[in-house]
Amino acid sequence: MFRIVSKTNNLYDVLDTNDGVIESCSFLDIISFCESGIEIKGVFPVNDSYVFEIDGLRCHKSMKGYKFRLYPNKEQQTFFQKCFGCCRFLWNNMLADKIAYYEEFQERLDTQPPAYKSKYSFLKEVDSLALTSEYRDLNTAFKNFFRDTKVGYPKFKKKHDNHKSYTTYNQKGSVAIVNKYVKLPKIGYVKMKQSQPVLGSIKNATISQVPSGKYYISFNVEIWIQELPGTEKEVGLDLGIKELLITSDKEHFENPKTLYRYEKHLAKLQRQLAHKKKFSKNWYKQKHKIALLHEKIANIRKDNLHKISHKLTQENQLIVSEDLKISNMIKNHHLAKSIADVSWYELTRQISYKSNWYGRMYVKVNTYYPSSQTCNCCGYKNTATKDLSVRYWACPNCGTYHDRDENAADNILAEGKRIVASQNIPGNSDEFQIASKNIKQ
Ligand SMILES: [Zn+2]
Repeated sequence: MFRIVSKTNNLYDVLDTNDGVIESCSFLDIISFCESGIEIKGVFPVNDSYVFEIDGLRCHKSMKGYKFRLYPNKEQQTFFQKCFGCCRFLWNNMLADKIAYYEEFQERLDTQPPAYKSKYSFLKEVDSLALTSEYRDLNTAFKNFFRDTKVGYPKFKKKHDNHKSYTTYNQKGSVAIVNKYVKLPKIGYVKMKQSQPVLGSIKNATISQVPSGKYYISFNVEIWIQELPGTEKEVGLDLGIKELLITSDKEHFENPKTLYRYEKHLAKLQRQLAHKKKFSKNWYKQKHKIALLHEKIANIRKDNLHKISHKLTQENQLIVSEDLKISNMIKNHHLAKSIADVSWYELTRQISYKSNWYGRMYVKVNTYYPSSQTCNCCGYKNTATKDLSVRYWACPNCGTYHDRDENAADNILAEGKRIVASQNIPGNSDEFQIASKNIKQ
């Protein structure tokens, strides 16, 4: 019999009562034992999760994404291009048929890939699961259309889209990582640069090509995640333009300094492009340079956001931010603002799924809540601060001196706590799973 007797650092000490040997195991080791039917005292299944008695920590299943660079050879590149093309072809043809049918009969047409395969035999040359995936995606898109026809038909896919991709499913090991290669249906082993181990089971994989020409693979993996020990700490976030983020702990997060240097360089390259003859050799060369730099900038930005979302979810039980309306943002043509929007969207997305992973609570409050106008000490509403250039102000009522953004972050936290209290959500109970899904007001 096995029993968890103690915990050292992050490892559990498991005693084998037959021979008295103690072995240290990670939570993943212990869960894989449990899943294979071995009984270990000190860990209990609760619904779809496991709870460890010694520290009260819960483990649950979640999805995690991994993205790695691919190095396909010539033949494999041709195959990928064929898959991209066939997926696009199938999507566009099914879409055209569905639209024609809808316009004639105002009803849904169920078109299946096999019908197209027998008509266009070249579709048989590519990964059939990739075609299934297009079929599923299109059906989902059409469901949205039927729910609300005002949104319009799903869009056709253009040949010169910036992003080419196809998705395949893992069926009994059809997708697998083997040493420095990934095994894919129909094409076999493709060289891959794996920057970290993939823990868990692969559900599907998306192969894509970015404008600079590089190939990538993204795995969607089902993984066991252990929640973090509870903490009393709470934080409010004010998302800014000049600074990325200001917290109610008076912490200011900025974009990495290197980003501005690269953005300046990007602007220079774009100016140079304007002077080159369109579609000439040099014009394409310049386009390629620009695509590479775009990629680099996006990666630096994303890495920084991961660091921030990691820190915030590690340290705080409750995280509150504004609920940003993305559709409003797209209308905004101011460059600095639109770049900030992309970061905010990505940051809130990361905080949201990491909160779910680690058993934290993430609450979004209404954007129209006047967080920067209200004094967090006395509640006085100072409309003079509507003017965005007012960075500091003294409250006319209680005299407290405020940093505009820090005051806003305090108010956002207070509003989040009020929402949590009004919904009576206990912090660390069984209902917590429901609570940690994003609460919107
Ligand atoms: Zn005041």
